[in-house]
Amino acid sequence: MIEGQSLHYQYPDGKSIQFPDFSFQQGSQWLILGPSGSGKTTLLQLLAGLRKPSKGSLSMNGKRIDNYSAAELDKHRGAEIGIVFQKGQFVNSLSVGDNLLLAQYLGGKKQDVKLCKAMITSLGLEDKWGKKLSTLSQGERQRISLARALVKNPKVILADEPSSALDDENTKKVVELIKAQATEVGATLIIVTHDQRLKDNFQHKIELS
Ligand code: ADP
Ligand code: MG
Repeated sequence: MIEGQSLHYQYPDGKSIQFPDFSFQQGSQWLILGPSGSGKTTLLQLLAGLRKPSKGSLSMNGKRIDNYSAAELDKHRGAEIGIVFQKGQFVNSLSVGDNLLLAQYLGGKKQDVKLCKAMITSLGLEDKWGKKLSTLSQGERQRISLARALVKNPKVILADEPSSALDDENTKKVVELIKAQATEVGATLIIVTHDQRLKDNFQHKIELS
């Protein structure tokens, strides 16, 4: 269970962003919609423990993560949370395969070549295993970013605009894969996006304004 109450975030020099209260059951799947600038990425970063709320409480499985130290947050994030970033955040000098294995290592998980290969195969990118990240298109990088989040078998999957660089066909593929994978491992899935194409794929939705 992930719960947010009276959450606010204030950037230095920025206005305070206020978020609606939420309560996500373990294993549930949520779409958080909102136009550009509505705070989607900020909310995801709060959930990931990459930022701390200025006000309000944020808890995961009964633990107040807004009270965690930076070291506790790093550990929590590495072990429990798979993040699909909007812009890659890869080690560009490493191959696709090594980026996936590195994610497992940093998350304190067993390095599992078979699982990593199966993941990119299900995303239609099996021929990219040994390729450098710098040789991939933006859409391919986005799918590898998804694979990297999933190979950790996280309890929570957070995705920032996972379909923004994808055509309709690949959007459908990626959303189906991410939902199926979340279901398989019982992970809570939270996608933030402005992409209205995703609306019909989710029962649970929150709108930011
Ligand atoms: P979204 O992802 O929905 O487009 P963001 O969470 O990125 O929205 O941004 C929400 C608001 O916070 C916007 O008004 C944006 O300009 C502001 N903001 C985002 N990042 C920063 C930052 N690093 N410093 C100051 N203001 C920021
Ligand atoms: Mg954003």
